[in-house]
Amino acid sequence: MRHGKKIAILGAGESGIGSAVLARKMGYEVFVSDAGRIPEKYRTELVDRGIAYEEGGHSFERLGEAGEVIKSPGIPPNASVVAYLRKAGVPITAEIDFAGRYTKAMIIGITGSNGKTTTTLLMHHLLKKAGLKAGVGGNVGTSFARQVAEGDQDYFVLELSSFQLDDMRDFRTHIAILTNITPDHLDRYENRFENYVDAKFRILRNQRETDSFIYCLDDAGTRKGLESHRPVARQYPFSIREQVACGAYLEDDRLIIKTEKNTFNMTIAELALQGKHNVYNSMAAAIAAKVLDLRNEVVRESLGDFKNVAHRLEHVGKIQGIEFINDSKATNVNATWYALGSMTTPVVWIAGGVDKGNDYSMLKPVVREKVRAIVCLGKENGKIHDAFEDDVDIIVNTLSAREAVGVAYHLAAKGDTVLLSPACASFDLFKNYEDRGNQFKEAVRQL
Ligand code: ADP
Repeated sequence: MRHGKKIAILGAGESGIGSAVLARKMGYEVFVSDAGRIPEKYRTELVDRGIAYEEGGHSFERLGEAGEVIKSPGIPPNASVVAYLRKAGVPITAEIDFAGRYTKAMIIGITGSNGKTTTTLLMHHLLKKAGLKAGVGGNVGTSFARQVAEGDQDYFVLELSSFQLDDMRDFRTHIAILTNITPDHLDRYENRFENYVDAKFRILRNQRETDSFIYCLDDAGTRKGLESHRPVARQYPFSIREQVACGAYLEDDRLIIKTEKNTFNMTIAELALQGKHNVYNSMAAAIAAKVLDLRNEVVRESLGDFKNVAHRLEHVGKIQGIEFINDSKATNVNATWYALGSMTTPVVWIAGGVDKGNDYSMLKPVVREKVRAIVCLGKENGKIHDAFEDDVDIIVNTLSAREAVGVAYHLAAKGDTVLLSPACASFDLFKNYEDRGNQFKEAVRQL
């Protein structure tokens, strides 16, 4: 029989286990169900906390007894278990909606195709430097639900994937940041860019007039979305091409932030995060900081001393005058375009892996201008050869990070940069992008 104090959770990753911990804390009887194998650390946690679970399949009937089911964002909406529960009339809730019920914190939600993690961590850094009580997580690091279970904060900075937003109904972001929208994960959106744009714009759902929406005015995908979505919140666009009345823009080499309350500026040379894309990320976080009225000194200092996480244009070292940069997190063409664009020397470019339907044409001009040689690191490299054979004389295939680094080192001249920025996912040769980046760094150290 359906029971209001019973909660079932679909998916036993960070989101599902965080929800289980929170639900248990709130006095629910909890049952976790995963169609695959539950990772060891999570299984141990469930056992230690005495939470019931199953793996390797879903017991539909038992799940149907729950008063509510919390679905992890990784479970596709067309999974048979989801269809069954819908038909049975069991309410299905997203983790962010569930966790949102139990916090009074101000929420800063960050979504976009690229730059989410960087902007999320930068925003958290700003709040912490201002001495505020702030948690960080969501799609990166600790799940939102687990954080809420661990104790409330005054602020939560949350990275939100489009999958998390797809399932969201009641959740409200006081400050929403949309970094950009370029094609990614289209397979989950019936290969329609409009559907993906709509998913990203769901971050605005439930916002009120006193809330804020921060977005990139230079981004075509966002502008397209604004044609059909009307934000009710106050709008703060940022741009490196044009001036805006309220938001952020560049004036010569200065970044200017304007809100209703005040104006802030600093030179882009002072920013800890370099590269055009990171000017955008710094602008987005700085606007949010000024909306929250953080002191100018705090904003300047935080934007100047932030240390980004690994695998995003990470400097690995210089060997014989050749710089090695790890941008393994660049798993789509747009991220790689920014990486190549920010290079100031000739480049030996390590690229390739699992291609998610890439269109390489936007990279051709920058490749022609900067790339001396391409080292493919993937099982299937035909598309890269076809795309760039007229632009670059040397294109070599390799099958391991060590081999790729060795070949790149050999092809590079003093003063060049060897850049790993694959534009592709990694799972043909590596466990994930971190593994790819770590193997790259290890190979550089062994040179
Ligand atoms: P996400 O969490 O959205 O995947 P990350 O901050 O982890 O974003 O960065 C992913 C990749 O995108 C990295 O290669 C990074 O250099 C690049 N990148 C970061 N910010 C932007 C941006 N604003 N526009 C385009 N590319 C970016």
